Amino acid sequence: MTFDDQEYLRRYPFIERVLISSDEIQKRVRQLGNEISIAYQGSQPIFVCILKGAYPFLADLTRCVSVDHEVDFMAVSSYGGATQSTGVVKIEKDLKSNITDRDVILVEDIIDTGLTIAHLIELLQTRAPRSIRVASLLDKKSARKKEVPLHYVGFEIPKEFVIGYGLDYDEKYRNLPFIGVMKA
Ligand code: 5GP
Repeated sequence: MTFDDQEYLRRYPFIERVLISSDEIQKRVRQLGNEISIAYQGSQPIFVCILKGAYPFLADLTRCVSVDHEVDFMAVSSYGGATQSTGVVKIEKDLKSNITDRDVILVEDIIDTGLTIAHLIELLQTRAPRSIRVASLLDKKSARKKEVPLHYVGFEIPKEFVIGYGLDYDEKYRNLPFIGVMKA
């Protein structure tokens, strides 16, 4: 844990503990960036950031990628349940890029039930990309309801509600440099 992380813990007493420190995140993101750079040599992939939660991950990850690439953004919301993913996705903001015949890397903050990303992949497949892969910082594997292939995963985490590094609680705490668990 860095001094910065400690500082945030003092400032925000409702954070119970740091689950993944900012150092650990940065180290792992660098590894993922290297893996992607090797896998996509000769290609010019499009990184699609799923808003809002994936923006810090996209920014850090693409700075560790050495192949030419583009970025684009998509915002989706889940129909129905406010607290539970239904998997029926409404597009709030669509891509600007044409992804036909392109290599697409979907960049997510966390895969929980898997319903949202599964629906999104299905939807983007209709646009005939050359390939679609998923890069997710976090994977709550034990919460999965739908199997989805995850190609690049930062960390597998237990079924706990986490905040920080893009992940919010009531739109707050996305700015924390680490992944934390809130006090119950
Ligand atoms: P899924 O369809 O995989 O269940 O939903 C994934 C989405 O649920 C994520 O993109 C994220 O917005 C939200 N989510 C899932 N688990 C957590 C969590 O622990 N903390 C926060 N802040 N959001 C979560």
